[in-house]
Formats: sequence, structure tokens, C-alpha cells
Amino acid sequence: MTMRGAWVSVRVGLAVMLGPGASLAPAQTILPDATSQMETKMGTQAGLEAWVRDFRPRALAAGVRAATFDAAMRGVEFDPKVVERDRNQNEFTKTVWDYLDTAVSQDRVALGLKAMAEHRDLLSRIETEYGVEAEVLTAVWGLESAYGTFRGDLPVLGSLATLAYDGRRAGFFEAELIAALRIVEGGHVDRFAGSWAGASGHTQFMPSSWEKFAVDFDGDGKRNLWGDDPADALASTANYLRYWGWQTGMPWGLEVALPQGFDYDQTTERVVKPVASWAALGVRPMAGGDLPDHGPGSILLPGGARGAAFLIFPNFQVIERYNTADAYVIAIGHLADRLKGGAPIAASWPRDLRALTFDERKELQDRLGRAGFDPGGVDGRMGPKTIAAVKAFQTARGMIPDGYPSLEILTLLR
Ligand code: CA
Repeated sequence: MTMRGAWVSVRVGLAVMLGPGASLAPAQTILPDATSQMETKMGTQAGLEAWVRDFRPRALAAGVRAATFDAAMRGVEFDPKVVERDRNQNEFTKTVWDYLDTAVSQDRVALGLKAMAEHRDLLSRIETEYGVEAEVLTAVWGLESAYGTFRGDLPVLGSLATLAYDGRRAGFFEAELIAALRIVEGGHVDRFAGSWAGASGHTQFMPSSWEKFAVDFDGDGKRNLWGDDPADALASTANYLRYWGWQTGMPWGLEVALPQGFDYDQTTERVVKPVASWAALGVRPMAGGDLPDHGPGSILLPGGARGAAFLIFPNFQVIERYNTADAYVIAIGHLADRLKGGAPIAASWPRDLRALTFDERKELQDRLGRAGFDPGGVDGRMGPKTIAAVKAFQTARGMIPDGYPSLEILTLLR
């Protein structure tokens, strides 16, 4: 879990940022700051050490013992690569279909089935206690660390100290570092390594999420998300999803076919209707038959009108607590479906389109604004206002208003 740092929140479509190992994530976190700060001066080891001395009284005031602090922070190293990752994350983009190709590959499905078989008893006990299905937990595990294979190898304390000292989101990372010191103080972790942004363990929790949500499922007295045994990590993930409102047995979403002439103004998470209303509008399951009644849902077109359409339900928003990128949520949901024996996504994707770069997304917003379509700011994030502006532009041009910010739209604006 973790932090959203490595991802851009892209409603309806668009590029997704890839983090290291595509993890990063969840919940309480932050969106990447949209400003490119490459011009900012890079810090130094001496600067970090001075920052650590300055930070020490604040950590102690927060309840970290002096002995813990001194032992844990001794030898912490400034890592310029971590700063570069943090500053550059907006530059890495993938389309939703490219992301899904990797995230829900045949290999990942096969390895997931193997992992589920291996941990059947554990997953079943967690499912019983927390009400989160084994396939869903396995899917999170599969995307966050390839089922425990890639848990990250950067020192968490060093990465967090580097990011807190670097100052771009100092307050956030300092609070995470204090939480990380509490993990060390409690003896919960042996080898504290993770991603560049400080997410770690089988399901890539940020330290603050460990504080709030980690559980000792194997009963050894430690809430250990980092050891070879995934019991605590998987139960903690279930606890996290349950906290955010996971509805047992309910789908995240369902691939649907939209009728000819469908009103594309309806394709936004802001439009929520009962299943019966969608059915009355001609929305059908891609797999055939009638729409099952899973309560109110929204239509999502992550690749625009030429890509797959999904009817999404409240569990979609629960997965968003891990990572807000649509592509990530769809990947978790779809991987879970595949682990249940479900079919691959049936619709094709507009594979001729490429993802817009961060600079192109900002240019798109700038040009939309100057053309009279308010994108809600020029930050490179394709949020609801930008999507609405793209739709308005498409409508004005007589195009299908799917809100997908493609290169074609940018070209027309130019
Ligand atoms: Ca434990």
C-alpha cells in the first residue's frame, strides 16, 4: 500500500505512472506534485546529516526513544536516486492497455493461482475473519510485490529521510519516517527494505498505514509485513480494505457493452445509477445475459470510446484507497476475476494511440483553457475537470465525447 506517489490519478483514461515495480500506493496518500522541480538543487550527505540532527528532537517529542533514534539513524545515507525518482515520476507514463498487459499477464495469473494454492488455508482464514476474498488479496499481493518476490531492496529509513530532507513533501515523509522508527522500535521488522518512496513489505504498506492497519495474524507478537511468511501482510491488507468499506462477495466492476448512440456524458464516475437504469439504457454485460443487480454503479471508459467499458461498483472505490489510478484499480479487480476463473477483457483497445507525456498533458490543459474549456488548472493531471473540458471540446467539434485526452485532441487544439 501505499502511496500514490508513483501514480497520477487519471480518471477516465489516460496514462498511468509507473512506480518501481509498479507498486506504491494506497491510501492516505498524496498525489504527485505536478510541478517539475528538476531545476532544484540536489542535496548532499552532509546536508542529510544536518537534517537528521535537526529532526531528532522532533522525533523524540513524537515519542521515539533516543536510543532507538540514534541506533536506527546512524549511517543513514542520502540517496540522490530516490530524489530523482520522486521528482521525475510524472515523466513515466503508460496507457491503460499497456499497463494491463503487464499487470495481468498470463504469468501473473499463473503465479497467482500457484500462490493461492500454496496459501489456501491462510487466505481462507483471512477471508473468514475480514470478509475480503482470497482472490482479491492475492491480486493485491501479485501487483504490489509479485506475490512476495519483489518487496523492494532500498533501505526504508534512508529513503524516507532523503525525501523528508529533500523538502518537496517534507511533512508527509517526516511523519512516515517517525512511523517507520516506531516499527523499528517495536522490533517488528528484521530487514527494513522497500520501494524508493518508503512503501515496503509484501503489499507495500507505508509506515503510517502499518501503524493504523497492520495486524499480527500469525500471533507471534509482531506485526511483521516484511518476513517470508505473508500472513501478517495479507491479513493487514484485508483489514485495510475492510476498513474502507469492502463489500464481501460484490464485484469491483463488470465489463459491459454500450449500445449504439449511447450518451457519453453518462460515462463518468460522477454519474451513478441503479443497474436497472443502465439496463434500460441498453447497457449489457460483455459476456452476455442480463446485468446482475449489484446496486448502483457508474460507467467507466478507461481507454475512451474505442476501448473496454466497465460498469463499476463501490468496491472500485475501495481499491482506489490503495492507489487512485484507474488502471491500477482495474488491474487488481481484473486479476482477482481471472484468479476466480473469469475471462480476459473481451473488448479491444485503441492500441494505435500512445500515452501523452506529462508536458503534453499540461499543454493540453493550457490549450483547452485558452480555447474556453476550463480544465481546472494546468498540472498535468487528467482529473474530472480536465476530462469534462475534453468532453466539452469533443462535443463542440462533433466528436464522440468520451473525455479521453488523446494526442488527436491535442493536435486539434494546436
Ligand atoms: Ca506476526
